[in-house]
Amino acid sequence: MSLFKKFEALAARQKELDVTGAQPFNVVVERMISATEGIVDGRNTILAGTNNYLGLTFHPECIEAASNAVLSEGTGTTGSRMANGTYASHIALERDISEFFGRRGAIVFSTGYLANLGILSALTNRDDVIVIDGDCHASIYDGCQMSGAEVIRFRHNDAHDLAKRLRRLGERAKNALIVVEGIYSMLGDRAPMKEIADVKREYGGYLLVDEAHSLGVLGERGLVEVTDEHTSVDFITGTFSKSLGATGGFCVSDLPELELVRVSSRPYVFTASMSPSVIASTRVALAVLRRSPHLRAQLWSNANRLYELLSQLGLNLGPEVSPVIAAMLTDADDALALWTGLLERGVYVNLIFPPATPNSSYLLRCSVSAAHTVEQIDQIGAAFAAALGDCDRSSVA
Ligand code: PMP
Repeated sequence: MSLFKKFEALAARQKELDVTGAQPFNVVVERMISATEGIVDGRNTILAGTNNYLGLTFHPECIEAASNAVLSEGTGTTGSRMANGTYASHIALERDISEFFGRRGAIVFSTGYLANLGILSALTNRDDVIVIDGDCHASIYDGCQMSGAEVIRFRHNDAHDLAKRLRRLGERAKNALIVVEGIYSMLGDRAPMKEIADVKREYGGYLLVDEAHSLGVLGERGLVEVTDEHTSVDFITGTFSKSLGATGGFCVSDLPELELVRVSSRPYVFTASMSPSVIASTRVALAVLRRSPHLRAQLWSNANRLYELLSQLGLNLGPEVSPVIAAMLTDADDALALWTGLLERGVYVNLIFPPATPNSSYLLRCSVSAAHTVEQIDQIGAAFAAALGDCDRSSVA
């Protein structure tokens, strides 16, 4: 019995949710209609929490490439590259990614989660220290745990706090691995790249930037590109599951040791590699991203519009405009009521509870896509306004 005791609180919370009829963590999209619309509860619903930043999941060229790859190479690789062998397309994708980032080497992983797990756990062990921003994604926390390294958190986006913690490390700072994100997944704010890089220059260490939410969103390549901090960043990780509309993850670096990570990384060695269709659509999506600056412009125009609409409603949003727009609430029931009100009005956003959120807040997290029409953005804003009208607003602002 004691094995399951840990689930009691969760089960009680689930029961409460069952009474309300809301299933925020079990939403079924009965049918996808487009990159921004699906059928949920039998209703046509605007999908406003997909991370599908450039809207490429239905791009005809990506679909054609994936379909052709299934026909010619089959549905899956059925094993890891170490055991079953590498397909030529894995190598082609790695070449594309390393050339795109202008870095000497690239490794692709089966998901973005595994990319962080694989890099952190292979690069560091119990003799090392990793210094991470407190708001880093679960994949970074889990990678730290898997590595066995000493983990030090610095206050979110606070380069002074990072400096303080590196200073305390003394000589060990020179080998510390510092980890930040281009755009943070929950509130959509960016790392203060210049300040972080300055601290690294002063104290030493290695710097890893996860560009999961910033690839194709900030410039073509993310925050490192737009801040021109290439030389201070040693490793860039990211995912193919957001702006590139597929699944998979990567790490690029100029350090020759990256190739050794490949053979010592359990999340690379012991899981099935990316399937051929996913590789094919990712490669085409990358080419589309490069030739389509108008998609990024549309994305930012949509992001600015929704941020403005939601701030006019008095919602407490993240500190800067970005395609990730999250309303922070202080009460779980209010957050659930607002989320339910939105879904009833045909708008699906992410409902995120602590501990996955900063400052123990309850988040209604939207992610905007270039594929959203202006009308859809306005409908999302109108649904928030109407749903808020039905809620107790005390925990909203
Ligand atoms: N890094 C960050 C910052 C993320 O937000 C996510 C996913 N939300 C990942 C990595 C993992 O990516 P994937 O879902 O492709 O495994």
